Amino acid sequence: MSTGPTPTHHRSRTATFAAAAVLAVAAPLAAAGPAVADPNFPSTEGETNTASIASYDDLVAELQRLEDTARFGVDVQTLAEVGTAVSTSESGRDLYVATVGEGPEAVWLQGRIHGNEPYGTESLLAVLKELGTNGSPDWTLLRDTYTFHVIPMYNPDGSELNIRHTILQDGSNSRIDLNRDWGVGKFAAAESEAFYEYWTMVDPAFAVDIHHQGLKREYGTGDDVTLSLGISLAPGGPTLPGVEGGAYDVLTRQMHVHVYDELAKYGYVNMDRYQVGGSLEIDIKGGVVSAMMLGLDHDGLNPEGHSNPAIFFETSGNTSDGSLGQKARGKSIKQNVVALQELLTGMATGEVQQEDPARWDEIPHAPVTGYQTDTGVIPVP
Ligand SMILES: [Zn+2]
Repeated sequence: MSTGPTPTHHRSRTATFAAAAVLAVAAPLAAAGPAVADPNFPSTEGETNTASIASYDDLVAELQRLEDTARFGVDVQTLAEVGTAVSTSESGRDLYVATVGEGPEAVWLQGRIHGNEPYGTESLLAVLKELGTNGSPDWTLLRDTYTFHVIPMYNPDGSELNIRHTILQDGSNSRIDLNRDWGVGKFAAAESEAFYEYWTMVDPAFAVDIHHQGLKREYGTGDDVTLSLGISLAPGGPTLPGVEGGAYDVLTRQMHVHVYDELAKYGYVNMDRYQVGGSLEIDIKGGVVSAMMLGLDHDGLNPEGHSNPAIFFETSGNTSDGSLGQKARGKSIKQNVVALQELLTGMATGEVQQEDPARWDEIPHAPVTGYQTDTGVIPVP
């Protein structure tokens, strides 16, 4: 999703206090935290310098370094080494996954399925470093509870080209959105076949996918949004309440309510709910995280119908729009890392599962007018 650039916006003192008040109402703990800083961190000016963004070679080098130096056993593999039938990108690049942790449940963390949305890679490499090196109680709990399967760069071809898609190498040069390619009659791209088969090997308990969107303003306040919280099958929408007896409709909301409460304590983060077209909830079936929740059985590889809840994050700023903002780089990555740490720890302790799912409604969003599905818009009845 890209909302396009908006003019540079200098927040007034009034707006800052209004934002603080909103956060305080939604999350009383925020009132005792640090003052709310200006969340307008993605730059709206100038060109994005992609030289500072992790390249495929950077990814491979950093994964190797983490495997060599981690205290707690980071295992880096290509899908060729794992043994999936299709194991490289369309252009023949190796596809990488890193695993860490010894817990009984698997967790799937992926980033940069859209090649022009870069910081999923940096964010997941940062999380992987903590998982591999941090001996504090939180990270120890995570390693003891889960085995993490981390895919920092799902789409290396698109990443190298700084485009959303991958490009088919069958002579057609067709551009494929990999996040619309896990569906019946789809799987046009090699990356989809490869990572889908790996998913059927892992059978994760839950998954998180990291994206970027263009610059966005919060509905009602006009404040700049730094992070949107997304569920690709809309809670309470046409699809999710009918999946697994409604269990994922509840748990995905609890996951984001927890992230919202925890990150509201950080002054530089301003969150809302991910929406498209201003007021539509997304309800697409071909997204990777959607297909996971639907338990898609492609090529007979998932005959038992494994499914898992899955959510996504959207950091503001986009390389294609030139709105990424170099000054924002550290904060953009940091908010993803903190969001993941809070989510994962909350899942491991059971705090997430105790959240009130109805509080999804408290996360800022425009009044919902309909659902954006694969085949068009369904108005809210
Ligand atoms: Zn995306």
